[in-house]
Amino acid sequence: AKKQGKKTWKLFEEEMQLSIIKRLRLENELQQALVLDQLVAFYQPQVHILSGVITGFEALVRWEHPSKGLMPPFDFIPLAEETGLIIPLGELIMRAACRFGNSLKKKAKTKIRVAVNISARQLMQEDFLQRVKKIMREENYSPDALEFEITESILMESLEENIEKIKELRSMGIHISLDDFGTGYSSLRYLSSLPIDILKIDKSFIQEIDNTANGAAIIGTIIQLAHQTHIQVVAEGIENKIQLEAMQKLNCDYLQGYLISRPQPSTKILDFYESRQGK
Ligand code: C2E
Ligand code: CA
Ligand code: CA
Ligand code: CA
Repeated sequence: AKKQGKKTWKLFEEEMQLSIIKRLRLENELQQALVLDQLVAFYQPQVHILSGVITGFEALVRWEHPSKGLMPPFDFIPLAEETGLIIPLGELIMRAACRFGNSLKKKAKTKIRVAVNISARQLMQEDFLQRVKKIMREENYSPDALEFEITESILMESLEENIEKIKELRSMGIHISLDDFGTGYSSLRYLSSLPIDILKIDKSFIQEIDNTANGAAIIGTIIQLAHQTHIQVVAEGIENKIQLEAMQKLNCDYLQGYLISRPQPSTKILDFYESRQGK
């Protein structure tokens, strides 16, 4: 048994080394990817639930890896968060979003917003606001056409400081949405005290509609509460007509999901946008 134990330990050690090496390699590659323009933003439309008019887009990062192909955020965002690479990555996507927004502006008849995901590490930088202002200035972008998506955990950790920053961002004209609502602390009691414009109901909640009647009732309550405090509601991850109709009945304002479009590269989504305008 002792011998067996030693053997397993050795295997374990080898595997550890392997995963450390893999991780270091990935970190290196990610650093390179930033320089080599391999990180790109895809965009997913958000539509007004009753009219179907496109009102905004969410920017979602993809890694065009030279050998592994198109990598989803799940495969590298956690590493980016741990290593701090999320800061340059986040700024790169913010800039891309501004450029995308500016090309949209030329085609759009109505006001369109572009949303970017902001990680805790970004917001926690002391000079975050200055950095944002610099990007807006350099990209010649109007803050009221920009939206920051933040998660509940960000709002809850070191509450005071983050809330202050978010208030300042809002006074600059940037819209703030609370992402993944329903997955974290989700205290409905807090809702009215949060400095947010939009609430995004997480797709895991939406999927509950199919399974239980209770799911819809909970979402309905959330939407009512949000509306009472003048917060608009986006339903995430709408994949089918049943979910769409349920959300219409519940008075949800906007929706985002595969039913409308998957996230797509900017040129493709601009074509999609043009083809849908006037409908
Ligand atoms: P998220 O912010 O909650 O983004 C929504 C995710 O749901 C996206 O996954 C989107 O592709 C997916 N989605 C949209 N509609 C549907 C649908 O109808 N059904 C299903 N099953 N999924 C749908 P994605 O692009 O893989 O991104 C995953 C997460 O990675 C994001 O979740 C966000 O937390 C993070 N992320 C993506 N881009 C960035 C970024 O630039 N910065 C940061 N900090 N995080 C990012
Ligand atoms: Ca998001
Ligand atoms: Ca989300
Ligand atoms: Ca999410």
